[in-house]
Amino acid sequence: MTASTIERDQDAGATSTRYHYTRVVEIAGRTVRARLERGVYLNHSGAVAEVLTDHTDWSTLAADDLNNWWHDTPPPSVEVNAAAVLGPFAERLLHRAAEILAAPPPTVTLSPHLYRAVSALLATSIGYNAECRIDPNDITWATDNGGTLHIFEHPDGSVTFTKAHRDECPFVASKGGQDCDDECYFDLPSRV
Ligand SMILES: [Zn+2]
Repeated sequence: MTASTIERDQDAGATSTRYHYTRVVEIAGRTVRARLERGVYLNHSGAVAEVLTDHTDWSTLAADDLNNWWHDTPPPSVEVNAAAVLGPFAERLLHRAAEILAAPPPTVTLSPHLYRAVSALLATSIGYNAECRIDPNDITWATDNGGTLHIFEHPDGSVTFTKAHRDECPFVASKGGQDCDDECYFDLPSRV
């Protein structure tokens, strides 16, 4: 973890049907916790990093897909040392949380027009009755590849959603007013 991480609390426990590990740290002044639970079944398990908001609620920062850790952990038993088994996965989640907190994305408020534009994005790219569930791996993959998501509302009512430009591109700097300088290039990602 980074030098600015302060340990606050941790909790671990194991029964014959589940074990859990929670670690609470302070990262750059924010209270963050990693919470992992391993049940007998996949759907009784989960791994998330959450940040304490001003309203004393926990808000999810990052989640680890079950396929990334569940199969590498032993089934529940009172003999399991939950902190030893789940500790490394908590560490990984807290690293991701620290990265996210270091570079917070802009808070996006969806206007009614933008909300309908997202509906159109889904409808035109998948189908008019589209449904799409994005899992945590997809979010990580999309964050790690291509450009940052930019959304530009144009005066004529059209909306551009783009991950095609680097942050310094004139198209981005002018919020869609100027053309791209054709220097935006991203490596072809490998899909896991
Ligand atoms: Zn560009």
